[in-house]
Amino acid sequence: MKTSDYKIDSGKSAKLDSFPTRYEGKLTKEEGLKKLAELTERLQVLQDLLYADGRKAILVVLQAMDAAGKDSTIKKVFGPINPQGCKVASFKTPNSTELAHDFLWRIHQNVPRRGHIGVFNRSHYEDVLIVRVKELAPKDIVKKRYDHINNFEALLHDEGTHVVKFFLHISRDHQKAQLQERLDTPEKNWKFSPQDIPERLRWDDYQKAFEHVFEKCSTPEAPWYIVPAERKWFRNLLVAQVLVETLESMNLEYPKVDFDPREIKIP
Ligand code: ATP
Ligand code: MG
Repeated sequence: MKTSDYKIDSGKSAKLDSFPTRYEGKLTKEEGLKKLAELTERLQVLQDLLYADGRKAILVVLQAMDAAGKDSTIKKVFGPINPQGCKVASFKTPNSTELAHDFLWRIHQNVPRRGHIGVFNRSHYEDVLIVRVKELAPKDIVKKRYDHINNFEALLHDEGTHVVKFFLHISRDHQKAQLQERLDTPEKNWKFSPQDIPERLRWDDYQKAFEHVFEKCSTPEAPWYIVPAERKWFRNLLVAQVLVETLESMNLEYPKVDFDPREIKIP
């Protein structure tokens, strides 16, 4: 699988209609799951190396329409890695303290420390998605945020934090089925929010807002990937593969020690 097929090149327009929501390639589910198991092992080794190296970090941003599977992606891809070096931050409607600051204030506090993997379940992109669609802030303020986001992510990159961003892409019909499942399954009722309905009715506005994001904010240092997310095994596989490739590109090393281990005798 070539992950670059799913990456938005810098400055390119991205019409979501032209990206698949469902993987229909040659790989079978069985092969995909086997590959995911291998990638998970590789991810564990690389995470150990990232932690030991201690100079760099990786920030994973997950965005999607409601009920596209952000939570289950986090559970499946990041579940098997060492919790000591991984932190998930979920961004909900800002509280009054957060609203009293600039939109990146709460975000910056949650970026991973060196050696760690940080996962954002929603992110600063909400401030150009829901905020744009529902006009929660003046248009001229929102318009400037794309540049602020690019500069912020460039700062992170220059200081050693590699940023990768995933949009879990599903169709409108798939969302309907997922939301219906939340209503039909008693154990999933809590996941449904009546607010999901009015948001769903703004589907086209959200898709447009996302397209705008991909066009403005996919950079070589912090690329966006459009993940066909309706087949869960493929969604997890693609996210894991991008992570492994990103970590492998970071030139991580175990720290050199200033003693000769062969000369030390443990008494
Ligand atoms: P699920 O997909 O499982 O429903 P969720 O991520 O949607 O989980 P919720 O608590 O249902 O979690 O929703 C969080 C809400 O907060 C979303 O509607 C999101 O758009 C909103 N939100 C996040 N950041 C901001 C922001 N900066 N401004 C306004 N709303 C925001
Ligand atoms: Mg929700």
